[in-house]
Amino acid sequence: KKAKSLKQPIAFYDQDDDKAQYRELLIINGLPKSLKLNQLFMVFQPKLDIKSGQCKQVEALIRWKHEGLGMISPSEFIPLAEQTGMINMLSEWVLDAVIAQQAKWREQGIYVSVALNLSSRDLDNPDLANNVATKLAQYLVPAECLIIEVTESALMVSLTQTINTLNQLRDIGLKIAIDDFGTGHSSLAYLRFLPVDEVKIDKAFLDEFERSPAAKQIVKTSVELAKQLGFAVTVEGVESRSVLETLRDFGVDTIQGDYFAKPATADEFAQTYPQLMCVYIKV
Ligand code: C2E
Ligand code: MG
Ligand code: MG
Ligand code: MG
Repeated sequence: KKAKSLKQPIAFYDQDDDKAQYRELLIINGLPKSLKLNQLFMVFQPKLDIKSGQCKQVEALIRWKHEGLGMISPSEFIPLAEQTGMINMLSEWVLDAVIAQQAKWREQGIYVSVALNLSSRDLDNPDLANNVATKLAQYLVPAECLIIEVTESALMVSLTQTINTLNQLRDIGLKIAIDDFGTGHSSLAYLRFLPVDEVKIDKAFLDEFERSPAAKQIVKTSVELAKQLGFAVTVEGVESRSVLETLRDFGVDTIQGDYFAKPATADEFAQTYPQLMCVYIKV
């Protein structure tokens, strides 16, 4: 950091940096405790079928209510968990929470597929697929109801073990989705050699959507190519009716967005489920 003015001789001291570092420390130290203190919970955001308007899938998203800091976004603490090696512990918790929730929903007659996010550091683990299979068996949840979302950047590292793990997960019956597609440097041409079922186009593209014909064209072309290569296509961050109409014309299968359905707790989801199953977005 540069000195703000010559009158500020201590060039490297910045109170904001200090605050940010302190916050990081609180988060890193708080992570192991968050599990014990029951501060973590999952919310579920509907993924809506663009043709029927129904919700057949949800994405599970982690939430953390810290005793001092309040709600902390996963965009903030997941990268820190990855850096400090605590992600595996968190992901194990997420897997258990999601599969247990699914078992509960199934008892209530709610049959919905759940997508959960894993990090590249989870896919490095040669035991992951076995652990998932064990959990599914324990809760009597079919593997076909589980989708693993892994970011494009995680896949680009492309360790042999990552690919092996994805293949094993698929062999068990899970589906694999590439998350945040378009933000990394992969191409669909490359993805077709990977064990992938679904491509989720990042919401960054939609930010420019209405203003920029180029952004629109990129989405259109990506969707077309992805469909031709046999991938299911989801677009996240859909925030308006008009964008939805355009995406439908492009051939997108599934949309996810706050405008149509925000992330909700398991109970909230169960309450709106009957609505979500009968043409939730008018088609
Ligand atoms: P993601 O997997 O790409 O999840 C989609 C994010 O976009 C979620 O943010 C969701 O709430 C948000 N979103 C969906 N529709 C809209 C919209 O219309 N407008 C806007 N502005 N946002 C929308 P969230 O829950 O804050 O999660 C952020 C990221 O944190 C996720 O991005 C994912 O990469 C990571 N994450 C969340 N939960 C987990 C988890 O359980 N495990 C791991 N490893 N990562 C997670
Ligand atoms: Mg995701
Ligand atoms: Mg995403
Ligand atoms: Mg994201």
